[in-house]
Amino acid sequence: MEKHEEFKAEFKKRVKDQAKMLYRKSLDEISDRHKFVCVAYAVKDIVIDQWIATQKAYDEKDAKIVYYLSMEFLMGRALGNMIINLSSRDEIKEAIEELGLDLNVIEDQEPDAALGNGGLGRLAACFLDSLSTLNYPAYGCGIRYKYGMFQQKIENGYQKEIPEDWLRHANPLEIKREEYACEVKFGGYVRVENRDGRNYFIQEGYQSVNAIPYDMPIVGYGNNVVNTLRIWDAEPVVHFNLDEFDKGSYMAAVEQENLAKTITEVLYPNDNHYAGKELRLKQQYFFVSASLQTAIKKYLKNHDDIRKLPEKVVFQMNDTHPTLTVAELMRLLMDEYNLEWDEAWDITTHSCAYTNHTIMSEALEKWPIELFSRLLPRCYQIIEEINRRFCIEIENKYPGNHDKVAKMAIIYDGQVKMAHLAICAGFSVNGVAKLHTEILKHQELKDFYEMMPEKFNNKTNGITQRRFLLHANPLLSEWVTGKVGDDWITDLPKIKGIEVYADDKKAQAEFMNIKYQNKVRLAKYIKEHNGIDVDPRSIFDVQVKRLHEYKRQLLNILHVMYLYNQIKEHPEMEFHPRTFIFGAKAAAGYKIAKLTIKLINSVADVINNDESINGKIKVVFIENYRVSNAEIIFAAADVSEQISTASKEASGTGNMKFMLNGALTLGTMDGANVEIVDEVGEENAFIFGLSSDEVINYENNGGYNPMDIFNSDMDIRKVLMQLINGFYSPDDPERFRPIYNSLLNTQETDVADRYFILKDFKSYAAAQKRVEEAYRNQEGWAKSAMLNVANVGKFTSDRTIEEYVQDIWHLEKVKVKMDV
Ligand SMILES: *Cc1c(COP(=O)(O)O)cnc(C)c1O
Repeated sequence: MEKHEEFKAEFKKRVKDQAKMLYRKSLDEISDRHKFVCVAYAVKDIVIDQWIATQKAYDEKDAKIVYYLSMEFLMGRALGNMIINLSSRDEIKEAIEELGLDLNVIEDQEPDAALGNGGLGRLAACFLDSLSTLNYPAYGCGIRYKYGMFQQKIENGYQKEIPEDWLRHANPLEIKREEYACEVKFGGYVRVENRDGRNYFIQEGYQSVNAIPYDMPIVGYGNNVVNTLRIWDAEPVVHFNLDEFDKGSYMAAVEQENLAKTITEVLYPNDNHYAGKELRLKQQYFFVSASLQTAIKKYLKNHDDIRKLPEKVVFQMNDTHPTLTVAELMRLLMDEYNLEWDEAWDITTHSCAYTNHTIMSEALEKWPIELFSRLLPRCYQIIEEINRRFCIEIENKYPGNHDKVAKMAIIYDGQVKMAHLAICAGFSVNGVAKLHTEILKHQELKDFYEMMPEKFNNKTNGITQRRFLLHANPLLSEWVTGKVGDDWITDLPKIKGIEVYADDKKAQAEFMNIKYQNKVRLAKYIKEHNGIDVDPRSIFDVQVKRLHEYKRQLLNILHVMYLYNQIKEHPEMEFHPRTFIFGAKAAAGYKIAKLTIKLINSVADVINNDESINGKIKVVFIENYRVSNAEIIFAAADVSEQISTASKEASGTGNMKFMLNGALTLGTMDGANVEIVDEVGEENAFIFGLSSDEVINYENNGGYNPMDIFNSDMDIRKVLMQLINGFYSPDDPERFRPIYNSLLNTQETDVADRYFILKDFKSYAAAQKRVEEAYRNQEGWAKSAMLNVANVGKFTSDRTIEEYVQDIWHLEKVKVKMDV
């Protein structure tokens, strides 16, 4: 008790002192944003001691470290999550209250750290949370983009991108670590020097930048562990020396300064799509080189034999984006640490592992040789040699089969294929859900699997329940804890305990009431942001994720158009009111995706303003979908739309967050949906559509003919005609023609309806009908929703991380004790 009060008094003093020191004011005189800064600094004070203790414990134990290399970390807000993870969370919350501050208001002041696009970046963030909570030594390594994922504004129904200047007010929760700065070199040429019978490779005539790390603490849940997210910024190496510049060095200096300014300027906003831009390759090399240089230096501080690096270090490559790790590690080991090829190759192939995130061909990274060798001349040489040796291996294994070399080579047809490099050099290749890994093994990467089956393994993705239930949904969290205790926070399968309440009428009513409260919270958000009134008693049917053709937001909105037609044609028809909620950013250059946003908003305009349907349907497009509003959205969802074309969504993680919050999945047998259905039972989900085998079969046979459907199904025909007769675009009837064409016209796109939207429409509409019928039975619905929560245990990122540790990383847990 004494201690408790002492702690609170100390914390309150720190917050007040911050106000005085930073703003020369008392706490009640400063803005909410400044209050956030003061609280953040006070929390950081607590975190710092644990951070130091953790790093000391790692050093003492000489623990193996995983470096999770990722171009993206979609962290969201840090403060609220940090507080719930700290053992002193109750004292901190009380102290904040006693200061007269509202924690929700304070948390709302923090900008999202949106250093990622979608699922891949959020996965990295969930993994860091789990690594810390499970006591594993880890660094997240990435880029400190000045502008993160753009802010989305909707103007006149169209998406507008606004630069997200998230560091405008500086970031109280990071630390600049200038002492770990290092140089990264681009361009120039490689000079070979022979000394004592050995060739030395020296890069000359290059441009370079200084890589400066900023560290953000990753707090584990109640265990004093604090790992580090290390994100790199670029600064120019030389500043102007006005006394001695001549024309040549002046221009070179300006160029170098510009290089530094541009490298970390902006996150590429493409999700599952490769743009092939030179700056992107620069970003990749920049953060990979800096991360590897510091990882090796750190290792050599306490070890003298670099050959044993793989015993203490493992590099996990999040997709092919950091695959330069392979070439750069080889380069450092040979050129900086003087190892021979074979030794360097042995180390590299025992420390690098690769995660595949997609099979979609437009997402595969391939760099033109010209660009690659100009920008990274030494890495290119090394990859050429890796390729030469690999092709010999392939030929030895398949003598005379030139087709194999053509299909598997790392350099082929004028291009460097990053996935092939990652698979060749990595000791592990994993997919992110069972179905995805099977497709990799037997379709996309069949040749590689046949040659090296031992490398392939599955790690089904997961999410952290600490952010997506404990923090995002306090009402449901407390209810669950009240029923089964709080073990679920670090041991999600324990949540299974609520299964025994699934038939309990009282528990069902409590559960549905919590869902209702969360729907009221979201309705309030929608009223504030969209000015639309939605009825929390309607079914909240939600599709939030990046906008992509394969995710089929188009299928959803076409079905809404169909339903609206049905209601207009049969006003007497029984219909439970439905609120269709969308949230999605489209890549800035993805035309048809942006047009789909306009379509959703146009449909919303017509339907929401048609008084004749008595509000039976509302359509809401939530602007600027991101982690912070996602937390409110998941908690309020009844139906989780996971309707990707089967085989296209490698895993999905949004599906898991919805399940955790008691939404029922309406989905295809794709990605992790398959495993969700395995866990919860098909009777507690709504499954529809082609299977992945069927889709792949059609694809291998030139697709199907959507005109057959257009000509025979009058309901679908009517909806499609509304795309081109101005029904939703009276000012410009041609506006949605490109969408119509993408579905029916083989001339404009090479394949009509490439994502099988019309093919799956009937089956989707039937599944939606089942949703409606199921919702009429509130007790049955409550039971299904509770069974979803009860059976979500598998989908914690804690389980995923334990599997990575067991099969790939081989880390040991480190205990951190605080001497108080
Ligand atoms: C979880 C998450 C995603 C990924 O959603 P999917 O439905 O799996 O594509 C994307 N964005 C945000 C903000 C998320 O929290």
